Order: sequence, then C-alpha cells, then structure tokens
Amino acid sequence: MKNKRSPTLMNAVMLRCLYCGQTSLLRKGSLLEFADGCAECNYKYEREVGYFSGASWMMTYTFSALIAMLAGAYMVWKHSDAGDLIVASIPALLGAISALLFIPWGRAFWMWFDHLLHPLTDADRLNQNN
Ligand SMILES: [Zn+2]
Repeated sequence: MKNKRSPTLMNAVMLRCLYCGQTSLLRKGSLLEFADGCAECNYKYEREVGYFSGASWMMTYTFSALIAMLAGAYMVWKHSDAGDLIVASIPALLGAISALLFIPWGRAFWMWFDHLLHPLTDADRLNQNN
C-alpha cells in the first residue's frame, strides 16, 4: 500500500480519515453510520465483519460508565437528600445519553488504536484492483 503515514488521533477526534483528514468517517447524511472508506487513501474503514463491535464495549461503554460514575459520585456528594430514585436515575440517564452520543468517537478511537497496532495492508484497500 502506498500510504505509509501514521494514523492521527486528532483526525479521529474530528471524525475525519485517520491518515489524510480530507474525508469524513461518517457516511454522508448519517450521524452514526461510517462510510465504506477513504477514497483519497483507498482503504476501507471496516476491515472485517464485526470490526466495530469491540468499539462498543471497549470505548463507548467505558466512556459512558465513567460519565455515569462521575455523575453518581456528584449526586451522592451534593444531592444525597434528593431521594434514591433521583440520585440513581440521573447518572443512569446521563450514562445512556453519553453512550449514544459517543458512538462515532468510540468507533473512531477504536479504529485509530487498531491502526496503530495493525498498519494498513493491501487487504485494506477499498478497490482491490488498484
Ligand atoms: Zn484518507
């Protein structure tokens, strides 16, 4: 493969191609679904079937659990007199909302980390004939 650059974390934060930063990781018009790949760099984002399933558990879940735990600690610390249902519900709600919002970044960070460990190969090309 011609592209020997390293994936960039800032491009993952911006939800752009990890290598060139020119194309969006997201499919046009979608807030959650990733595009097939980067036409500029000629590589596919989803390297294999189920590629992003690890992102849900290792990135998105971790992030939302941290948000919920911090919110829970804050509620117990500052609003413990609000009632058990309120003290438990607000962190749970924030955790659920943050999990939904973090899905694209969880996938982007997953992809960035995977590309650091497993650099691009010819098998990652969008069009195998090029
Ligand atoms: Zn690219």
